[in-house]
Amino acid sequence: MGFSTKAIHAGIEPDPSTGSIMTPIHLTSTYVQEALGKHKGYEYSRVSNPTRTVLEKNIAALENGKEGLAFASGMAAESAIFQLLKSGDHVIASRNVYGGTYRLAKLVLHDYGLDFDFVDTTDVANIKVAIKPNTKMVFVETPTNPTMEITDLPGVVKLCRARKLISIVDNTFATPYLQNPLDFGIDIVLHSATKYLNGHSDMLGGLIVLNNHALTERLRFIQKSVGAIMSPFEAWMCLRGIKTLAVRMARHDLNAMEVAAFLNTHRKVKKVNYPGLVSHPQHRLAQKQMRGFGGMISFDLGSLARAKKLLRSVRLCSLAESLGGVETLISHPATMTHASVPPDERKRIGVTDGLVRISVGIEDVEDIVADLKQALARI
Ligand SMILES: *Cc1c(COP(=O)(O)O)cnc(C)c1O
Repeated sequence: MGFSTKAIHAGIEPDPSTGSIMTPIHLTSTYVQEALGKHKGYEYSRVSNPTRTVLEKNIAALENGKEGLAFASGMAAESAIFQLLKSGDHVIASRNVYGGTYRLAKLVLHDYGLDFDFVDTTDVANIKVAIKPNTKMVFVETPTNPTMEITDLPGVVKLCRARKLISIVDNTFATPYLQNPLDFGIDIVLHSATKYLNGHSDMLGGLIVLNNHALTERLRFIQKSVGAIMSPFEAWMCLRGIKTLAVRMARHDLNAMEVAAFLNTHRKVKKVNYPGLVSHPQHRLAQKQMRGFGGMISFDLGSLARAKKLLRSVRLCSLAESLGGVETLISHPATMTHASVPPDERKRIGVTDGLVRISVGIEDVEDIVADLKQALARI
């Protein structure tokens, strides 16, 4: 079955009691049991809910995985993954992961005895060097937020398998339409469903997909014990969004390529980070493990003042955090998504004060380019 067909049909059956072609939103906390221990597979909605189950099956199919789990947000899903660990364990993560991942690691999980090192994973050798006797996980984001660095997935798998480390990929930017980490042997795929999967900037959610049954069982246990589950309404919204994921991603990809090419030749833009550009240092690697380059671009204007001026001057592009919606969003990582990363660390990972991030929407690309053109003319 092709990707678009799976997006629309995998895990989804018309409702047996009414024929409703759309999955019902099962707004219920509990389920009537026929007799003690005799029920239809559902007992309490923190444990499982039929609408959530459909989404979990659907995303598992899209990521070529066996099982999926849905959480209240991407961060809730990430927390569940780190709850697989014990105090004293060590994690190696990509150096410019989502700002919230860094905050969770350093300002929350650190106090529970989990030790994190953030390394440049564009070279797998840097992961190898960072491995300690207590290392248990390697957490990679590729492409990374916001500098669009790529990590070699087969390389990570080889390293992790040899040392029995759990490998995790945050696949939020690429989506399963462009990249399937499990196909390379990655253990856990993570999504902020808030972004491209939902695609309409109107819900929050997190999704995890795995092939490993033992890890899935433990994560399901954490999901029901901690309770950071996705609500039935959000699960339904996400299912609705995923139906058009393929057409949206194809358009995001086309539009972003054009916007990146425009920015790349503009004399006021110092540098453009987009894996689809031949000038991107890892363009070839991106081509090898992805089926396109996605809708995220970052570019450097050289200073905070110039970035501010651009962000004040855009009209169609909306100044906002988040990404992956149908509308074009523009943001300033250093003061927005990466504000909790210390200045020195920001500098080290390339999140300069002049860096602007753009989530290219699916509007007419001529309008997006025209807006950026007029805003650049003002700086
Ligand atoms: C947004 C995001 C997250 C966090 O997801 P929420 O749904 O906001 O909790 C994690 N990783 C990446 C790459 C993101 O963009």
